[in-house]
Amino acid sequence: MEEKIITEEVENTSGGLNFVEQEIKKDLEEGKNGGRLNTRFPPEPNGYLHIGHAKAIIMDFGSAEKFGGTCNLRFDDTNPQKEDTEYVDSIMRDIKWLGYDWEDRLYYASDYFQKLYDFAIRLIKEGKAYVDEQTSEQIAQQKGTPTEPGTNSPYRDRPIEENLDLFERMNKGEFEEGSMVLRAKIDMANSNMHFRDPIIYRIIKTPHWRTGDKWKVYPMYDFAHGQSDFFEGVTHSICTLEFVPHRPLYEYFVKELADESYCPRQIEFNRLNLTYTVMSKRKLLQLVKEGLVNGWDDPRMPTLCGLRRRGYTPSAIKDFVNRIGYTKYEALNHIELLEHSVREDLNKTAVRVSAVVNPVKLVITNYPDGKTEMMEMDNNPENPSEGKHEMPFSKELWIEREDFMENPPKKFFRLSPDKEVRLKGAYIIKCTGLKKNDAGEIEEIYAEYDPDTKSGMPGSDRKVKGTLHWVSAPTAVDVEVRDYDRLFSVENPSAEEGDFRELLNPDSLKLIKGVKLEPWAAEHAKPGNHFQFTRLGYYTVDPDSTPGHLVFNKTIGLKDTWAKEMKKL
Ligand code: ATP
Ligand code: MG
Repeated sequence: MEEKIITEEVENTSGGLNFVEQEIKKDLEEGKNGGRLNTRFPPEPNGYLHIGHAKAIIMDFGSAEKFGGTCNLRFDDTNPQKEDTEYVDSIMRDIKWLGYDWEDRLYYASDYFQKLYDFAIRLIKEGKAYVDEQTSEQIAQQKGTPTEPGTNSPYRDRPIEENLDLFERMNKGEFEEGSMVLRAKIDMANSNMHFRDPIIYRIIKTPHWRTGDKWKVYPMYDFAHGQSDFFEGVTHSICTLEFVPHRPLYEYFVKELADESYCPRQIEFNRLNLTYTVMSKRKLLQLVKEGLVNGWDDPRMPTLCGLRRRGYTPSAIKDFVNRIGYTKYEALNHIELLEHSVREDLNKTAVRVSAVVNPVKLVITNYPDGKTEMMEMDNNPENPSEGKHEMPFSKELWIEREDFMENPPKKFFRLSPDKEVRLKGAYIIKCTGLKKNDAGEIEEIYAEYDPDTKSGMPGSDRKVKGTLHWVSAPTAVDVEVRDYDRLFSVENPSAEEGDFRELLNPDSLKLIKGVKLEPWAAEHAKPGNHFQFTRLGYYTVDPDSTPGHLVFNKTIGLKDTWAKEMKKL
């Protein structure tokens, strides 16, 4: 697959509608399907949803919403060997989290097993399907190439009665898995390889999580999907580009099934691919199973539950998907653009609090012992209606170690000996000295505050270059922070040769204990809450938190290199 890196947002053409929506609009205006719009999202319950699926969900549910139609949720549960109710539950949870609702339109391909079986029997009776006893290798060898026709199976002209008998016995469990398949008898010379007698049923003996051991034969995707759409009255079957060559077969089966009065229309768009991660469910499952990440909802994963735990929001994901748009070209999208959307969203909503990640003690030597002043801090300067909260100030504070330098270079505007800085929301202070331990590390920094410079008072207008965040030491709450980096160390792991696991970034998770958090934030931290730690970034409370032990996931830093890149364009 050829991919180009998309560096710009896709222009939405024609009244803000993407090309799929334009097609839908046209069909509705032409009165097709009696003016009805019914889409569907058809996940296979064999893994957790990832951000690529979100792109499909936003298309399927979003377009139905936009044009007053409906969207079905249909589990494509045709492979009992790989499916699990754990996946079904997680898929429903994630779709709801994105803000969509299938209401009473929850379906399963397994609801149609009888109808599909009956249809297969009909095809056999009409001489349009046969049982093939060759191995899958033999069948593959006879397929031919796009330029050379395939060869007929020696079983192709089996009598109808024999086919019927064998297929029924396949379903009774009389034959081993892999020993026989049912193939549609179409055309071994067709230029579309999918028409060269496609396999439509295979034997699987693993019990199905919904239908138990009732069936021993299961329909293949191409045989189940279009027909399921048809049974449900789906009008627009929107999927990803790899299904383009399947479309003629999709239409062929629906026409064989019905009277041609209606055929759901398949429209394809480009998949979402993101830099520094993988989207293959098989690979994601491997990462989980082998313990290379901490489960499907590990905040480094591109899964929706992982992104949620990391602190990404549905509105940020939707904003990102709208920015990259829907096209007919495969692309690799920069993860920075997603991060940009997350930052923009959290900037509007996250409450500002103070935390010190790498603390060093600052003692205000001229501040009275035991005194505490409550300082008023803005909850969100972007949105004054969010109000303020109080934060204690006292003689002993924590500041970031990186905010102090004993021998600073010229352009260092933070704290250093004899220099002044502002403590955000409090006073201007001047550094008067420091104390080191035997190893030569700084243990304490000393400063004097200027009482006339209290925040909000006239004296606070005085110009100083640097502003530091801080947390009062006696009331600080120790919390744990999990800091994340890219899951993979290369931009496009799927394009690299060799084992993708060797491309994992060994430093993608950093655990930081003893982070000092202001008490108001600790009181208000509930799993899923988003905060901005002043000057540091956005952090989200992890569900691992307990009242005595808060855990925060670093959602994203403040620095937005992407915004700068976009300004340059
Ligand atoms: P599988 O290999 O198991 O089929 P899948 O990712 O296609 O994996 P499905 O459960 O079949 O998983 O996907 C449901 C729907 O989501 C499909 O219609 C598919 O086209 C769409 N989808 C899957 N991955 C992406 C992606 N990266 N971008 C956009 N849509 C996607
Ligand atoms: Mg699929």
